[in-house]
Amino acid sequence: MKIIKILLKTRIIILLFCLSLISGCKDTGKKTDGRLNIVTTTTMITDLVRNIGKDSVNVQGLMGSGVDPHLYKASEGDVSKLTQADVVFYSGLHLEGKLVDVFEKMGRNSNTIALADVLDKKELIGSAYFASNFDPHIWFNIEYWKQITGYLTQELAKLDPDNASFYEDNKTEYFKQLDILEDDVRNTIATLPEDKRILVTAHDAFNYFGEEYGFEVVGLQGLSTATEAGVQDVQKLAQLIIDKKVKSIFVETSVPKRTIEALQQAVNSKGYDVQIGGTLFSDALGNAGTDEGTYIGMFRYNVNTIVNALK
Ligand SMILES: [Zn+2]
Repeated sequence: MKIIKILLKTRIIILLFCLSLISGCKDTGKKTDGRLNIVTTTTMITDLVRNIGKDSVNVQGLMGSGVDPHLYKASEGDVSKLTQADVVFYSGLHLEGKLVDVFEKMGRNSNTIALADVLDKKELIGSAYFASNFDPHIWFNIEYWKQITGYLTQELAKLDPDNASFYEDNKTEYFKQLDILEDDVRNTIATLPEDKRILVTAHDAFNYFGEEYGFEVVGLQGLSTATEAGVQDVQKLAQLIIDKKVKSIFVETSVPKRTIEALQQAVNSKGYDVQIGGTLFSDALGNAGTDEGTYIGMFRYNVNTIVNALK
């Protein structure tokens, strides 16, 4: 098994090397059809680039809806997309844990930009689990999302100066939508009594959300889905749900349901009835073409689901 992994890794590295020889040293200009050729990782980053770049860029997102970025591995097809891109935008802080090696190898002769790098590390929630030392789920703080949007806009303008004012206008428009979202979210959450603001989910993706909107947040699987929940974790959390009279717990689209179902059973077996309050979008957006397939729609959907189920 280990040998196969090493062989596969070696193949990807060789492929990267060959592709970098073919494409030569990259300049920062556009190569195809006059539009920037952009590759992105998570659905959140893909949606953001589409909002700022609109028709002036060509965006290929590697991950689809429901895909877990902690566990996602690059296929050989992905590697060739990545090396042929004018620029790669990813979330960073080791969210895309299995892509880090690929990005580091590409780093020398390509534009690979971790958007979360723009955030002030002093403000971030620390985490010993990630090699970055920080909780990477930064999109659940709308202010951080704005900072990331600003960074993206600046980088797009550098790569494509002809469209710089177009990107800047799109950013201004997007900021207005984010401000409306922030107001709506605060108004909706204000209807939920403070003692009911306990959010139990499959994994710990909502710490920034909790910090911002006054929720106690508990994830069954910890910060990354790469760690499995043990029997003891389940029992401890079941007791907390009973002690705090939590009405509902939540499934996530990018994590298998069974962990939360096991928790529900553990609670029920102790004679307390806890509901599954719905499915949240944590590390991936919903299907393209639906409201939840956008960052703004996802945020609204999550907040409505949480507040309705905990009321
Ligand atoms: Zn996560």
